[in-house]
Amino acid sequence: MSNSFKALTLVNQAITRLEEGLLKRSLRINEKACDVDAVVGDRALKTFCSNDYLGLANHPALVTALSDGAQKYGVGSGASHLISGHSRAHELLENQLARFQSAHIPNARALFFSTGYMANLTAITGLIGLANKGEAHIYSAALNHASLIDGVRLASSQHQALVTIFDHLDLASLEKDLSKDTSSLKLIVIDGVFSMDGDLAPLNSLLQLANQYDALLMVDDAHGFGVLGEKGHGILEYLDLHSERLIYIGTLGKAAGVSGAFICAADSFIEWLIQKGRPYIYTTATSPAIAHAVSKSLDLIEGIEGKTRRKHLDELIKLWNEEMVFSCWQKASSSSAIQPVIIGSNAHALQAAKLLDAAGYWIPAIRPPTVPEGKARLRITFSANHTVDDVKELIQTLQKIESSMLVEGVSL
Ligand SMILES: *Cc1c(COP(=O)(O)O)cnc(C)c1O
Repeated sequence: MSNSFKALTLVNQAITRLEEGLLKRSLRINEKACDVDAVVGDRALKTFCSNDYLGLANHPALVTALSDGAQKYGVGSGASHLISGHSRAHELLENQLARFQSAHIPNARALFFSTGYMANLTAITGLIGLANKGEAHIYSAALNHASLIDGVRLASSQHQALVTIFDHLDLASLEKDLSKDTSSLKLIVIDGVFSMDGDLAPLNSLLQLANQYDALLMVDDAHGFGVLGEKGHGILEYLDLHSERLIYIGTLGKAAGVSGAFICAADSFIEWLIQKGRPYIYTTATSPAIAHAVSKSLDLIEGIEGKTRRKHLDELIKLWNEEMVFSCWQKASSSSAIQPVIIGSNAHALQAAKLLDAAGYWIPAIRPPTVPEGKARLRITFSANHTVDDVKELIQTLQKIESSMLVEGVSL
């Protein structure tokens, strides 16, 4: 008797193919709270890979706020927002989130989600649902995050929206397409800070195009919220953008150190998404205790704590950009906390990550499909909890590892 069946054979073959292509990923268990020091197995590792840019994920004030939130509002929400799950904690948080963007989006209102993935699916499918079938056109940047890509795919299959993928550095071709477009609804979708390259989207120019050709501009600021701008309000503050055409997505599990995300837009758009956003309607509201903890995080971000942390983070990034010099590997031109080192092949990126691990660092190799073929890289991220010495030691280690790999005849 065989206990094998078709799907089991397929899945085992598929996993073997991943292994052969050096594309199989694996989970590592961190024994400690998220911070720049981790423990995996019995080994201490210095992490340069989390998105906890401000180092707030284990901040005592947030730990206290989470337990206060649970005392005050309970743990579970019990239902979706439109049934009975929308608590005072959610409402207060949404008002606070809207206030963060209110200087940039007139009549700003915010909607809180359990993840950025859900927020993106909701925003794109919901907004595209405003047009008749086949009458909306989405312009999506080529390097967008997977959750935006999936939102675009879902919108295009649900509403037969047209989709154009554009290179975010080639706005001339985007303009050409927009100028010929007679669709009743146009939506430009882009990351604010590109998650694998660390560069910023050209939002000033994109907003001009959106104005000129009557499009909405949706910006996913997962890596800018909390980090960019004097008050940490994100990329709209940083670039001083103003428009009712802006649809802003911020996530709360990265710099804000908790979890969740939000859409912020002019009131009418948010009202529509509450009515028709399927991933908003058909899911249980996030724990109100989490909402309460996020509120506390926003206070920290806007206050002196956030300001001090952003200043220190900027100093670390500056140090890296000034002192990190490779002979063969490539740094990206990034001034954000995301600083990729592009190595090339999967094998070489994996080898570099392995040598870093042996030296006591946790910096994974990022491979296709997350990044383009032949552009495997180390994705280094800085946190305000890193010290100047942490960064200097990392620079020395990377220089040593690069030269040892070059000696072995490994090049790009
Ligand atoms: C992390 C990320 C998301 C997803 O947010 P989650 O809250 O982690 O689901 C969306 N967009 C971008 C650009 C991201 O980096």
